[in-house]
Amino acid sequence: MSNNCDFLIIGAGVSGAAAGYELVKSGKVLMLEAEDAPGYHSTGRSAALFTRNYGPSLVRAISTASFDFLVNPPPGFADHPLLTPRGGMSVALHGDEARLDKVLALGTEENPILELSVEDALKQAPLLRRDQIARAVIEPGVLDMDVDAIHRGFLKGLKESGGKVITGARVTELTRTGSGWQVKASGETYQAKFVINAAGAWANQIGMLAGAKSIGLVPKRRTAILIDPPAGMNVSQMPAVDFAGGETYIKPSSGKLMASPGDQTPVEPQDIQPDEMDIAVLADWLERHTQLTIRRIDHSWAGLRSFVADEMPVAGFDSSLENFFWLAGQGGFGIMMSATLGRITASLINQGNIPNDLGARGITAEALAPNRCQ
Ligand SMILES: Cc1cc2nc3c(=O)[nH]c(=O)nc-3n(C[C@H](O)[C@H](O)[C@H](O)COP(=O)(O)OP(=O)(O)OC[C@H]3O[C@@H](n4cnc5c(N)ncnc54)[C@H](O)[C@@H]3O)c2cc1C
Repeated sequence: MSNNCDFLIIGAGVSGAAAGYELVKSGKVLMLEAEDAPGYHSTGRSAALFTRNYGPSLVRAISTASFDFLVNPPPGFADHPLLTPRGGMSVALHGDEARLDKVLALGTEENPILELSVEDALKQAPLLRRDQIARAVIEPGVLDMDVDAIHRGFLKGLKESGGKVITGARVTELTRTGSGWQVKASGETYQAKFVINAAGAWANQIGMLAGAKSIGLVPKRRTAILIDPPAGMNVSQMPAVDFAGGETYIKPSSGKLMASPGDQTPVEPQDIQPDEMDIAVLADWLERHTQLTIRRIDHSWAGLRSFVADEMPVAGFDSSLENFFWLAGQGGFGIMMSATLGRITASLINQGNIPNDLGARGITAEALAPNRCQ
């Protein structure tokens, strides 16, 4: 196999995979992944929700623009639907009622958010407690994503078009060669015209290796647990529930419940593990505010959500390093934004601009450019 390519992508999470899926249409792609399997870090640890009304307005525009692709992916991308109905309910405890006004205001004709009586909220989410809940709203357009199928679909498309994914290849050196790059990873040397930095929580470190200025990326730990619903309660049709005013959320997951305290503790990039104290505090909170009694935690994990200061993604060429492209800072929205950010990456590299349909949604190259945070 030749180690020369047009586009060398660092990181085979969903961001790198989506970029590779688009870039392979215009040149040879090599993707280097440090771990033995793609998806080991953030991509494999998400809550798997497609929520159009989540994050800053630019994020919401990018996520919304991914919807058509995920509902109607190209033939052969996946053999079953990537999105399935879930619904997202926001509930307020006594004293927090007014916080739901902001949530309601985010509703649109295309994706409404509706007031719900407390009785209806309890019917839809029977694990809530009548004495705790003061107000509820529902966003029916929240969907479950099959993250594994989305990620595999991008990688499959990349490989079918001649792209290569090399696992166990940790990039440790990046050197400029004329207008291109030489990249060293686990004993091999690669030559590329363009480098795409899709290294997730490690993107800043990869930038430093290349000689770029920091974009101030901060990985933040988020914890999750998997628990049993109350005995005899079928939660399969229950919407995801978040508690306004706190960050705690609960969602059904394969007959069980996933819960998270919604923590965001700044940490160094690493194979992040859950903190026992965060789990104990979450279990106690759930027992006090819902009908859950937590006898056993089936599984717990943590993942990294990486943000720059304005919490919007970074997609663009470094202003001082030729042919070095940043694709980073996807925070807690990277799966739902992936299809659109992949298109943006290919368009900025090949045409130097944002596709017209995305421009019409108010997505601009300037808002995504790395130099805004350098
Ligand atoms: C608990 C939790 C819940 C979330 N919920 C949602 C949700 O509901 N919806 C949503 O859209 N998003 C959600 N997210 C966010 C989403 O998971 C991330 O935004 C997304 O997975 C980021 O993908 P990525 O490809 O950029 O990063 P990653 O998946 O981390 O991929 C980066 C890859 O780069 C590789 N790499 C790093 N350094 C090197 C190197 N030197 N050489 C080679 N390879 C390297 C890593 O090994 C890694 O595989 C959630 C995240 C968490 C943690």
